[in-house]
Amino acid sequence: MSGGAGVGKKLLNFLPGQGGLEVLKEKVRNRVLDMVEREELLDLLQELIKIPSHKQVEWQEDRVVQFIYNYLQGAGFSDLKLQYIMENRPNILARLPGKGGGRSLLFNGHTDTVPPYNMVIHPHQPLIKDGFLYGLGAVDMKGSLAAMLLAMVLVKRAGIALQGDLLFTGVIDQEQCSLGTVDLVRRGFKADYAVVGEPTNLDICVAHKGMEWMKIIVRGRSAHGSTPDKGRNPIYMGARIAREIEKLNNRLQDKYHPLVGSPSINVGVMSGGDDPNIVPQVCFLELDRRWTPEETLESLYRDVEQILNRLKLAYPGYQYELLPMDYRTCPLRNIPLDVDPDELIVRSLRRNLKEFTGKDSGSTSFRGWSDAALLSRDLGIPAVVFGPGQLEKAHAADEGVEIEKLMIALRVYLGLILDICGCSEEGGR
Ligand SMILES: [Zn+2]
Repeated sequence: MSGGAGVGKKLLNFLPGQGGLEVLKEKVRNRVLDMVEREELLDLLQELIKIPSHKQVEWQEDRVVQFIYNYLQGAGFSDLKLQYIMENRPNILARLPGKGGGRSLLFNGHTDTVPPYNMVIHPHQPLIKDGFLYGLGAVDMKGSLAAMLLAMVLVKRAGIALQGDLLFTGVIDQEQCSLGTVDLVRRGFKADYAVVGEPTNLDICVAHKGMEWMKIIVRGRSAHGSTPDKGRNPIYMGARIAREIEKLNNRLQDKYHPLVGSPSINVGVMSGGDDPNIVPQVCFLELDRRWTPEETLESLYRDVEQILNRLKLAYPGYQYELLPMDYRTCPLRNIPLDVDPDELIVRSLRRNLKEFTGKDSGSTSFRGWSDAALLSRDLGIPAVVFGPGQLEKAHAADEGVEIEKLMIALRVYLGLILDICGCSEEGGR
């Protein structure tokens, strides 16, 4: 995984105004783009969809990872690794080594999907209809996985001699706790730039909010239900806290980040008590706080603690605890993403999109949370979220990806590889 931002003298840089050996550049670029075939991409995606890879199957991601391993091995990739995070649950790492002097590009995609809840189509019998390919994961995110993998295979098949390394990480568990990308962070994975292929409908997403789940435990004093005045009912306290959280959410709307918008907080769960005739001992509240790149983790907890401290003074006799729920979310925290829209990778995506769609596109934010935040903030790799498919169609009853957009994603990924990694010469086939 050679890194380093150093750029060799002979590096072909495909960005406008950067010079380079234009004729050779165009020749290589056109040659690999000519190799793109709709059927090959759709076949690969269908194979991925046919293999269930969610938490309700005993092998979880293992079988789809083995398929990807065999696929890349069959295409001549020799630098392949399986790194087991737990039994049956490996990350797959692939590397097409560059000749040196170039920048490395990482394609990161998760190999798990959500289970097929309430699907109205067959989750694992792919269907092509009206310009869409339907199946579980077609959008989130086996569509972009197929495009990334085929882009890498085409570069290899075209015999292009890249300067920087072309890297791929198929990571597990993104739909749960992101343990796959967390493992990359723990191992100190290196790359100069990264793309995370979550469905953005081909929008270039350089930012998104963070997501922090918190739990409040309120303890009161239990008593018989016929004498509530002898107890301290924590549910009443929980209700007061919930009202204060609502007010906090209103105040948060005054904050505004130009890309991700306003932060928010929501009470998603409130529970407590056993029977109507008992004043309960404990009440729980679970909160979801969406935070912007300008906020800090500490400030999120401080806001809630201030509410609890005020209520403690006003209503003595209760105890409070405020705890993170990172055991339910990412152990490294679901931090926000915030990449400079002027980064080379963003400019390259923009230029390639313009070429293949004819449209100018700016940078925007991703509505969900993604592993790009971990790559970017914890590993220092500028990571952009970019993939085919609409987010509304992810986890949907009729999950399907628009084939035309899928093809554009493949072409953009190819253009990105040549831009970022560069190539020094035309290798043999
Ligand atoms: Zn996803």
